[in-house]
Amino acid sequence: MVVEDTARVKDYLTKTKLTTLDYVINPYVGCPNKCLYCYAAYMSSFSKHKEEWGEFIDVKHTRKRINTFKIKNKKVMISTVTDPYNPFEEKYRITRMIMEQLVNSEAYISVVTKSKLVLRDIDLFKKMKHIEIVLSISLLDENLKKKLEPNSSSIEDRVETLKILRQNGIKTVVFISPIIPQITDFKRIVEKTKEFTDEYWFDRLNLRSSFKTKMFKFINDEYPIFKSLYNDIYEMKNSQYFDELNDSIEKYCKENQIVYKNFYAGT
Ligand code: SF4
Repeated sequence: MVVEDTARVKDYLTKTKLTTLDYVINPYVGCPNKCLYCYAAYMSSFSKHKEEWGEFIDVKHTRKRINTFKIKNKKVMISTVTDPYNPFEEKYRITRMIMEQLVNSEAYISVVTKSKLVLRDIDLFKKMKHIEIVLSISLLDENLKKKLEPNSSSIEDRVETLKILRQNGIKTVVFISPIIPQITDFKRIVEKTKEFTDEYWFDRLNLRSSFKTKMFKFINDEYPIFKSLYNDIYEMKNSQYFDELNDSIEKYCKENQIVYKNFYAGT
């Protein structure tokens, strides 16, 4: 793992074109969680690193304080192309320093992570006006998790994290993403987490470039029975599988009075 601790940026805040957000904050470049399906792998081309995605991390530094006036009532996500509580955060504490600057802000802040390290900053979250902590969960099988998300917290730890956040009065979201065809069982994830979860988000597995090759190899090796379905979805662009799943998510959430956002609806 290559760690670069001298990366300089002008500002932690970045304006985003993502329609549901105003700003994003990515305290690191790179993500050691190394999820096989990681959509952020394209970020490698914006870095100087020759190492593969997941094998390097740049720790971002700036002297500029976050302009909290600029983000008043705006939606800010931390993070979109890294895990802000990845294992290196324990040492470098960049996310914590950013949270300290945001503590009195009136922005709507969503923190997205797969790590129980997020619990370290509960003291700050409790002081914040609009904060939600989003735990990503795609599957419940720990052995499969080790293959697909080798360096993130176990599923049990993530569920425990939700529970502790909830006990501390902090809004929790479970992001069922990516929904991996025939592997993600969204109903089982909801059943396991609903006691400690305020809201659910859903998004489908998108496959492009290098991670498409990796995921196809994974399916070939581990689930050859699904090969033709993956080919249908990702090569033939047949939307039937996700259209039907979309209907099933909407029906289930409505029937069970679950608050949710479906980010792939209509695609
Ligand atoms: S946690 Fe997110 S950014 Fe990090 S490797 Fe996994 S999918 Fe990519």
